[in-house]
Amino acid sequence: MPTYDVVIVGAGSVGLPTACFLARERVRVLVVEELPSPGQGQNKSAIGGVRATHSDPAKIQTCQLSLDVFGTWREQYGDDIHFQRGGYCFPVYEEEHERSFRDLLVIQKQYGLNIDWVETQSLREILPGINPNGLRGGVFSPEDGNVSPILAARAFLRQAREWGAEFRFGEKVIGMMREDGTGIKVKTDKGTYGAGKVLNAAGAQAKAVGKMMGVSLPVEPDSHEGGVTEPVKPFFKPLVVDIRGFPGSENVYFYQEEQGHLVFCLTPEPIVPGLDTDSTSSFLPQVARRLINLFPRLRNIRVRRVWRGLYPMTPDGVPIVDRVQDSDGFFVAVGLCGQGLMLGPGIALNLVSLITKGKPLLPDEVFRGFSLYRDFTRASEALK
Ligand SMILES: Cc1cc2nc3c(=O)[nH]c(=O)nc-3n(C[C@H](O)[C@H](O)[C@H](O)COP(=O)(O)OP(=O)(O)OC[C@H]3O[C@@H](n4cnc5c(N)ncnc54)[C@H](O)[C@@H]3O)c2cc1C
Repeated sequence: MPTYDVVIVGAGSVGLPTACFLARERVRVLVVEELPSPGQGQNKSAIGGVRATHSDPAKIQTCQLSLDVFGTWREQYGDDIHFQRGGYCFPVYEEEHERSFRDLLVIQKQYGLNIDWVETQSLREILPGINPNGLRGGVFSPEDGNVSPILAARAFLRQAREWGAEFRFGEKVIGMMREDGTGIKVKTDKGTYGAGKVLNAAGAQAKAVGKMMGVSLPVEPDSHEGGVTEPVKPFFKPLVVDIRGFPGSENVYFYQEEQGHLVFCLTPEPIVPGLDTDSTSSFLPQVARRLINLFPRLRNIRVRRVWRGLYPMTPDGVPIVDRVQDSDGFFVAVGLCGQGLMLGPGIALNLVSLITKGKPLLPDEVFRGFSLYRDFTRASEALK
């Protein structure tokens, strides 16, 4: 039976960078992925937003690490992953939203985040053509950015292989068994592997994979749709989030990627629980109305493609990254919600340290925010 130091279940937003950084430390790692190539689960559904400007300290510090990985990748390892540091911008039209953003800024500045309130005129310069009616200003964080999820996945795979990681694509993990203090036996539909440690990075299927080790994980997927337009001449840089509630949707977020395509996504209200990834007929009219309302100049742009993917949600909107107690080396990095791409590399660096040195990279008191054993009934962090 082939044996590895670590077996990772899932070559997605978290599994790929983790395999890569584990292999860099000369850990013998195998990734088992049921789909035929890397990043084909929810990773490829992501539109590409990467920001550190959250309110939860664990997410802030993890995404700061991710921004650093994405931002220096090309220079360090050569792959162009289409990273742009265009910032994030939340235009504000309602007094209540202005108040909450201004309150949040105080906390965010305590963490040293480069984010500020911008007045209406400056906002109109950052987002030329934005609907000025009732615009009060907004928040802008110039150091956030965006990246291509697919190019990033391929880059992590290439570099992981160069450092010695092994991958089995088109192979599904179907069971796991503890081996009397010597590790875990991982059974797939094609073979069996011995593992010193196992990482569950199975995204929307995390709950089922947890069950294989008798671990109950509060991860429930809900579905979200995205799309991409034809390319047009670049006219704005940040990823824009419009948080005004419209009938049927909570917010819309979008940006213009390097080659001029607008990539967009909508958060439905109410949420749509379940695993359905068939595109709906309601999404496009709904998102088009919102985009044109915010940017009237988009009224003639043509949409090229839409898709529907899943957010693997936790009850409080914060991921679970932990070592399972009394499990002989079972680790989980699950429940990445709508932020798995941006959290992926930062979580990976913490996992490498947790797995090889027994402690995360972030201070324990911060990393504890990701604990499997936390109180999941605290206020939701999902969109803060
Ligand atoms: C429309 C949309 C837009 C989004 N936009 C963004 C964004 O802008 N920024 C952002 O950060 N996030 C975004 N997200 C969220 C992001 O896509 C997810 O949070 C992230 O991809 C989850 O990463 P993961 O590694 O947990 O799961 P995945 O990337 O899905 O990886 C898990 C992998 O595990 C494999 N797997 C599962 N079970 C098994 C098994 N038994 N055996 C073998 N393999 C298995 C799956 O096939 C999959 O490839 C968006 C999501 C959607 C739907």
